[in-house]
Amino acid sequence: MSNLRFKSVEEATARKAVKVELPKERVEAYYGKQVFNRQRMFEYLPKDTYDALVYAIDNRQPLSRQLADSVAEGMKRWAIDNGARHYTHWFHPLTGSTAEKHDAFVEHDGKGGVVEKFSGKLLVQQEPDASSFPNGGIRNTFEARGYSAWDLSSPAFIVDNTLCIPTVFVAYTGESLDYKTPLLRSLNSIDKAATHVARYFDPEVKHVICNLGWEQEYFLVDEALYAARPDLVMTGRTLMGHESAKNQQLDDHYFGAIPSRVEAFMLDLELESHKLGIPAKTRHNEVAPNQFELAPIFEECNLANDHNLLLMSVMEEVAKRHNFRVLLHEKPFAGVNGSGKHNNWSLGTDGGELLFSPGKTPQENFRFVTFVANVMAAVHKHNGLLKASIINATNQHRLGANEAPPAIISMFLGTAVSNILAKVEKTDSLNKLTIDGKEQVNLDVAQIPEIIIDNTDRNRTSPFAFTGNRFEYRAVGSSANNASALIALNAAVSAQLMDFAAAVDARVDAGEDREHVILDEVKKLLKESKAIHFDGNGYSDEWKQEAAERGLDVEASAPLLYDRYTLPQSVEMFEKAGVLSKKEIEARNEVKWEMFTKKVQIESRVLGDLAINHIIPAAVRYQSLLLDNVYKIQQLFKGSKADAISAQDLANIEAISDHISAIKSGVENMVNARKRANKIESEREKAIAYHDDVAPYMEEIRRHIDKLELMVDNEIWPLPKYRELLFIR
Ligand code: ADP
Ligand code: MG
Repeated sequence: MSNLRFKSVEEATARKAVKVELPKERVEAYYGKQVFNRQRMFEYLPKDTYDALVYAIDNRQPLSRQLADSVAEGMKRWAIDNGARHYTHWFHPLTGSTAEKHDAFVEHDGKGGVVEKFSGKLLVQQEPDASSFPNGGIRNTFEARGYSAWDLSSPAFIVDNTLCIPTVFVAYTGESLDYKTPLLRSLNSIDKAATHVARYFDPEVKHVICNLGWEQEYFLVDEALYAARPDLVMTGRTLMGHESAKNQQLDDHYFGAIPSRVEAFMLDLELESHKLGIPAKTRHNEVAPNQFELAPIFEECNLANDHNLLLMSVMEEVAKRHNFRVLLHEKPFAGVNGSGKHNNWSLGTDGGELLFSPGKTPQENFRFVTFVANVMAAVHKHNGLLKASIINATNQHRLGANEAPPAIISMFLGTAVSNILAKVEKTDSLNKLTIDGKEQVNLDVAQIPEIIIDNTDRNRTSPFAFTGNRFEYRAVGSSANNASALIALNAAVSAQLMDFAAAVDARVDAGEDREHVILDEVKKLLKESKAIHFDGNGYSDEWKQEAAERGLDVEASAPLLYDRYTLPQSVEMFEKAGVLSKKEIEARNEVKWEMFTKKVQIESRVLGDLAINHIIPAAVRYQSLLLDNVYKIQQLFKGSKADAISAQDLANIEAISDHISAIKSGVENMVNARKRANKIESEREKAIAYHDDVAPYMEEIRRHIDKLELMVDNEIWPLPKYRELLFIR
């Protein structure tokens, strides 16, 4: 065992929980303390500024220059009162993480000193030198300008003495260069389209709001062990490591007692979250050892997503205070569960009605069926695209592996809803529609039993499951910006609702009865989108076969899946919904391919280095110990007795040699495959080469290393093993 690792394990096992000071006040007192929310706005802004700002936020209006100056002045005062000395526009570039560039609140005062200053201009719009953010060719280097602009719908907040202003990030020519811009567009689009359809049932509806409740899964690893694993440090996942004898087979971690060191971390994280207005609520152990989850109360989608991105960065900081590192990678360890970020997604009216919730009146239930049918149609039509929106170099290791959703998008509805839809499909009049409730009474669609909510059987194998009043989109990766998935989902559902409304309105205009037309159009959708509905075991091999027969997208290669974005039906859908233009889609794909290539390239380099410079030298050292042993035995015993004793050692020596040469040639072939791939011009072709030609060597090399781990003396093995990484806490 190397010195570093020896110290680490000692240190790691000796660690105690870090004490977290609980605030004296109750949660109401410190919740949102670091947020410029309406209460703070009211306190710090002149009354007319406050009224105008709230009006602008509620009606999605831009701010006038004068108003912006007044808001900036109040916001600056609040920030400085709360310890901030800097401000930054906080945005979400296509790298998938968040970006910020800090400036101090200082300007020359003209007398050789400085004054604290923050103008409306700086609040509302900035021009970060953004030429090195990925843009897929939208900005030529000679026109590398992009600007960030305040997203009024998400409040500013303070982290580490810096005022952070959530912003969109767009090119001067208007194209989006981030995730937030198209997400906001998709929310606008679904608001309009869903409001139109919701008004068929209730003319009072003014807006439809999209809700998101994300469940963030993650692993914790002791930081000393983490530091001794270059693969974790550089790539976020273990590129090698034999399964530990015990992992999750006893199911003893899930919902188990939370270890005290972890509980202290969680408490600290929740306190920080609450101060930032993130409504953290649920925490528990997950299925794999050292895997945990945090879930907040759901919120409006854009705000919820900002909160998730903020939480991911806060988590990393808090973990360090507790001598942990947090792993957000989708598959940090082979052989145990990976991490996802279940997106609980629903639509609700401004009056607080959930559109995917069966109600108490016939109209509400008819509305429920109508919205569910439209979601089914959208998910069916765009199942390949939805998969493309969640797949990347990291999530591809999770999909289809241990207990993850399969790399096929299907929809789980549960028995109660399936039965209702089957009846709807057969009925020709709403009044004749009967549904068997729990008590076997005949109900019409007016009385879809409330038991549905409790009855939605829990199918954990479905990537997109109906769960009572919402859909749980489980295929989203733990390290992802949810926006990628939600942009595609919202846009697809929005475009579908637009088509639905157009069909209904045309027939009604031609004189048909509206209720009858809606029912008829819903029935059409149910018939057309049957293939997406699957309540069975999504993990089974038979499903893969059946899904292919049903015409669902079964492609699993990320670089090939990105082609789904540029299918004519996808481009048409995105443009119809006003979410992404063809030019934006093409540019984003360039970025996706480039990111894919770079991630696999980094992994492949790290693996090559570990294999040649860490693993092989250790194996050779152990091999010479064995050789030495054989030599001495031969000297001491001689003849057939010596041969018998040495036989086992010789077999081991040979096996080690075989693994060493397989690793050497594997690395050589992998490097050559990389060299060939690097020469390819097209980002698409290059990513395909990395997926098809480079990545498979990594699997092969790993297999030999993992075999060696079982043979080589534990004292010599240079890396912390799974049993340490996963169980020391
Ligand atoms: P699970 O049993 O799947 O873990 P939870 O009850 O923990 O479910 O809820 C998961 C998430 O779903 C939480 O963030 C919760 O606030 C959210 N959620 C509940 N109802 C809705 C809804 N109607 N729309 C969106 N999210 C919701
Ligand atoms: Mg859940």
